[in-house]
Amino acid sequence: MEHIAFRCLECKVISVFPTQKSDGRRCLECGGHIIPFGHAKVHGKTISEMNIDVKVNTKQLDKASKKAKKLAKAIADLNMEINNLGSE
Ligand SMILES: [Zn+2]
Repeated sequence: MEHIAFRCLECKVISVFPTQKSDGRRCLECGGHIIPFGHAKVHGKTISEMNIDVKVNTKQLDKASKKAKKLAKAIADLNMEINNLGSE
């Protein structure tokens, strides 16, 4: 996620907010008016967000893969039954 750094006009403290949620923000230190300073990266947070994404995606992929295998087996069983009916 991209972040934007803002500098407070009153106390000069830099506040950092996610780009999409940066509208209407005030200084984190004094609540004063802030002006955009430039793009910022939040190192620790970005890495933990990426880890969560990968874990969720792998889990969902695993679930989908198990369902696909069950479905394939059900279709194979059904085919066998249909073939058996045909030979009777
Ligand atoms: Zn301030």
